[in-house]
Amino acid sequence: MTAPLTVSKHPITSEVWEKFDNSLAGSIVLPESENYDASRAIWNGMIDRKPACIVKCANVEDVVAAVNFGRNHQLLVAVKGGGHNAAGFAICDDGMVIDLTNMKGIEVNPRTKTAIAQPGVLWGEFDAATQEHGLAVTGGAVTTTGIAGLTLGGGVGWLMGKYGATCDNLLSAELVTAEGQILKASPEENPDLFWAIRGGGGNFGIVTSFEYQLHTVGTIIGGMVLHPMEKIEEVLKFFRTFTQNAPDELTAYAFTMTSPEGMQMAGIALCYCGDDLDEGEKLIAPLREFGPPLADLIGPMPYLQQQSMLDATVPHGQFSYWKANQLTSLSDEAIEIFKTQAPLVSSPRTMVLIEHHHGAINNVTPDATAFSQRRSPYDFVIISLWDQPEESEIHIKWTRDFFEAMKPFFSAGVYVNTLFNDEGLDRVKAAYGDNYDRLREIKRKYDPSNLFRWNNNIIP
Ligand SMILES: Cc1cc2nc3c(=O)[nH]c(=O)nc-3n(C[C@H](O)[C@H](O)[C@H](O)COP(=O)(O)OP(=O)(O)OC[C@H]3O[C@@H](n4cnc5c(N)ncnc54)[C@H](O)[C@@H]3O)c2cc1C
Repeated sequence: MTAPLTVSKHPITSEVWEKFDNSLAGSIVLPESENYDASRAIWNGMIDRKPACIVKCANVEDVVAAVNFGRNHQLLVAVKGGGHNAAGFAICDDGMVIDLTNMKGIEVNPRTKTAIAQPGVLWGEFDAATQEHGLAVTGGAVTTTGIAGLTLGGGVGWLMGKYGATCDNLLSAELVTAEGQILKASPEENPDLFWAIRGGGGNFGIVTSFEYQLHTVGTIIGGMVLHPMEKIEEVLKFFRTFTQNAPDELTAYAFTMTSPEGMQMAGIALCYCGDDLDEGEKLIAPLREFGPPLADLIGPMPYLQQQSMLDATVPHGQFSYWKANQLTSLSDEAIEIFKTQAPLVSSPRTMVLIEHHHGAINNVTPDATAFSQRRSPYDFVIISLWDQPEESEIHIKWTRDFFEAMKPFFSAGVYVNTLFNDEGLDRVKAAYGDNYDRLREIKRKYDPSNLFRWNNNIIP
């Protein structure tokens, strides 16, 4: 989506900035500040936006002050949690970035199996704190992804078959509204808002704390098997049968990638989080026998090891372009197209995923939370990555061509957190699905002037 860019209609003199800065426990970063470039850099190196001001919030009062300042000066407001959103909504041109990255508190209560975390926390930090108590919640598969944007968009991960989407485990949240009011959202307090923030993204306010239900997660069976790209058809057919028979405890993703040595590969990564590891080994045995694989990296491991397994493939600062959609099924025809397109990949850093969605995440009715993408068995995600700016056109074209070729197999839905910023209103509506009209009503109640519009926007 392309929201209109606005600079303040009121002059913001250096005295005004200074007074604002002095009122904060945190601090502001201006274009002339030494740390300006570092503060506006996010995961996707292709995003090169220059905000008028970045407010590094230290606490909830700072968030309130920033919201009031941005609103009163009619600034475009962007909100930065982990800064991992590929479309780059964490940073805007000319306006104000409300940067939550220093708000990193995490409190785990092992007795109630709950955790309260602030919005600057990343999944690696959250998992490390909860795993100290043998606990976890469905979270992102890369340690540097923020809990905030991921949870507000829905949240998929290795535990989703057993424990649902991340947002399904949200017990309550605290928000700062567009009017600068602090509100709680839970089943008891502002339930409409609680419904909306579980999938409706950052449209309704700035979340300053998330309370999660955790689950006992100890040693899991995780890792991946790798095959040569020539076997892609067999791998995907095997993956289809394997996932159709998988219990809720077993979640698997098929993928294609290129090895550091330049060899194109097709693989299957998985996580079995059941209590009985022997049972897990039996379930996974056919996967390890099939082929046989070039490499079998599957075995029992700490959950933290599984959660950091993909980190090296998606470093900060790479250029990235995404296209994704859910699939109605993984038919022979879809596999045939995949088999033709994947080996044509233009960048050796690019990955293509087919995530299996099943069990708890899909057992929730699509209108129970704003996150509505709960009926398709597979999510097709192209994550194009490269490091030479002049190559962008080639890699974006390959991504779009692959996406277009797969269109006959798409369901109506797309996961909001995989949308890029050039996709248009129809795609944003497709992400919210049949929940869009209800989300608009709630948006009209909590943010009628659309202060929080630099996102996959729900237009009030
Ligand atoms: C390498 C990589 C791996 C990923 N893996 C997964 C995965 O396994 N599972 C999955 O579900 N997704 C995954 N994602 C997608 C991820 O969910 C989104 O990128 C998500 O937006 C990241 O959240 P963030 O806080 O880091 O993002 P940011 O870029 O900081 O923010 C994203 C959006 O959320 C809004 N926002 C952020 N914080 C707040 C807040 N506190 N209050 C209100 N609005 C806020 C922002 O304004 C913005 O619109 C991955 C992304 C990348 C780049």
